Amino acid sequence: MKILVTGGAGYIGSVVVEQLVQQGESVIVFDNLSLGHRKAVHPSAEFIHADLNDRSAIDQALATHQPEAVMHFAAYSLVGESMKFPFQYLGENVTNFLNLLQSMVAHDVKKLILSSTANLFDDPERMPIDEDERIVPGSPYGESKFICERMLFWLDRIHGLKYAALRYFNAAGASEERGEDHTPELHLIPIVLQVALGQRERVSMFGDDYDTPDGTCVRDYIHVLDLAQAHILALRTLDSGSRTYNLGNGKGFSVKQVIETAREITGHAIPADVVARRAGDPATLVAGSEKIRRELKWQPAYPELQAIIETAWRWHRSHPHGYAGGVTKD
Ligand code: UDP
Repeated sequence: MKILVTGGAGYIGSVVVEQLVQQGESVIVFDNLSLGHRKAVHPSAEFIHADLNDRSAIDQALATHQPEAVMHFAAYSLVGESMKFPFQYLGENVTNFLNLLQSMVAHDVKKLILSSTANLFDDPERMPIDEDERIVPGSPYGESKFICERMLFWLDRIHGLKYAALRYFNAAGASEERGEDHTPELHLIPIVLQVALGQRERVSMFGDDYDTPDGTCVRDYIHVLDLAQAHILALRTLDSGSRTYNLGNGKGFSVKQVIETAREITGHAIPADVVARRAGDPATLVAGSEKIRRELKWQPAYPELQAIIETAWRWHRSHPHGYAGGVTKD
């Protein structure tokens, strides 16, 4: 199958591209490289350096390559940033997706996989959070993804576009060659590993007075390779209808557990201080992923925190400066 991947130079997108290529698919990456890395794009994928705000560039890409499906990763994805710059999210995230959809309809591309988010569930009534949970976006970021999901609902009805919306919880870990490289880095696991690499002095734990077993926030960390596999399974079953899935590994781990596990794996003391809570952090977010397990037979290969952090550590050690530096071998 020929697949166009927007944001295929980013963290999750690049790993999905790698897995698609390894499974024999033909991939075209469409990325403006504002947040992604050219080196993250698998060499067997075609690369188009262009922006989704440029409708004619999307039209050209779809007309030239005539993909059967699109996977859409290209978007701003930081909750905190979206509270400061709402228009980047309610504006660009939404209008870029609208451009993509309009172009897909014009070129008769009828399959799409959307990266959605756990930030749709700011006030869950039940934990783990399943697909029936009421939607309460926690920020303009979550709202932008909810708007995208709603657009897809209508395009399925009106144009027969088949989609899967995958609501990710906390993507983490790395493949052999691709991992997490954000500037600035704001995510817990890469920050902890930067301390272990000697690139930061210590890690700040955002609050230890939450209503959780050890007082620190609990999150559902899902390995990026397991996420990638879910995308590929979803893509291959789109013919049977549109679907929406919550995607996590179903287990929660606290900030303290993440740091403790990273200490064991790296052998570094990883000094940690408790600081004030970060605005907007719910105490616990754990996905109920029964639906995707049942319907697509999806099974995470890396459900344990240990394996998730080990793969991330291997990548950070071999890429101490992310994609910018060279690769360091043991
Ligand atoms: N966190 C932390 N210190 C940091 C970064 C994150 O204590 O330097 C916490 C954060 O409050 C949350 C968890 O780690 O409870 C995961 O945060 P991350 O930003 O990685 O992902 P998010 O849950 O926001 O998507």
